[in-house]
Amino acid sequence: MKYEIKDNKLLLHVFDVDKTIKKTKKLIRLCDRKKLELVINGNTNEDLEMIKNAINIKNREDRYNYIYDTVCKILDDRICNENYCEFENDVCIRFKKENPNHKNGCCEWKGRGKCKYLINSVCTMKTCMACKLFTCPFLYKEKGIKQRVNDYVLIKYFFNRNQKYILECSFWTPKEIVMKRLLANKFNINE
Ligand code: SF4
Ligand code: SF4
Repeated sequence: MKYEIKDNKLLLHVFDVDKTIKKTKKLIRLCDRKKLELVINGNTNEDLEMIKNAINIKNREDRYNYIYDTVCKILDDRICNENYCEFENDVCIRFKKENPNHKNGCCEWKGRGKCKYLINSVCTMKTCMACKLFTCPFLYKEKGIKQRVNDYVLIKYFFNRNQKYILECSFWTPKEIVMKRLLANKFNINE
C-alpha cells in the first residue's frame, strides 16, 4: 500500500482497488490515530468510496450512523430490485411451498407470534438491519441466496466480532437500540 502523509491528509495511491480494500483496517488505524483525512489518488469504486467516507467521519456515533444507513439502503435496494422472497397475497415463496396458510413470512412465527411492528402486513419500523440481512435456509437451498454481514465492506472492516453479532441478530429492533449496543462494544483500532 503506497501512501503519503501531508497537511493532516493521508494521500493513498491506488493501483489495485480490491487489494487496497483488503487493507481497510490498516487505513482505519492510520487515519484514526492521527486524525487524518483520507484522500484517494487513482482507481476507486463504490466500496472504496464508502470506506473513505466512513473513515473521514471522525465522530464514532456519526460514523456508525453513516454505516448503518448506507448498508440498510443497499439492502433495501436489493430486496426491492430482486424481490427474492416473492411475496404474493402476503405469502412468501417458502410458505407457498410449505404452508400456504402462513402469512407474513418470517415476520410471524409459530411460538413467538407476530412482530409488533408488522401492521396490516406492512413493516412499520423499516430500520432493522438484522431483518433486512436475514435470508432463510429455504432461499439458499432453492435460489442460492444467502447474506452475511461480511458481504458488506462497511460492516466487515469497521466492526468487531461482537458488533457483527449485534447487527446480525438484533431482529425486530429499532436502529436507536442497535446503535447503543454497537457503541457499548466499540471497535478497537488495535484489533
Ligand atoms: S426469508 Fe424465507 S421465510 Fe422469510 S420471508 Fe423470505 S422466503 Fe419467507
Ligand atoms: S421489524 Fe422485522 S420482523 Fe418486524 S415487521 Fe419489520 S421486517 Fe418484519
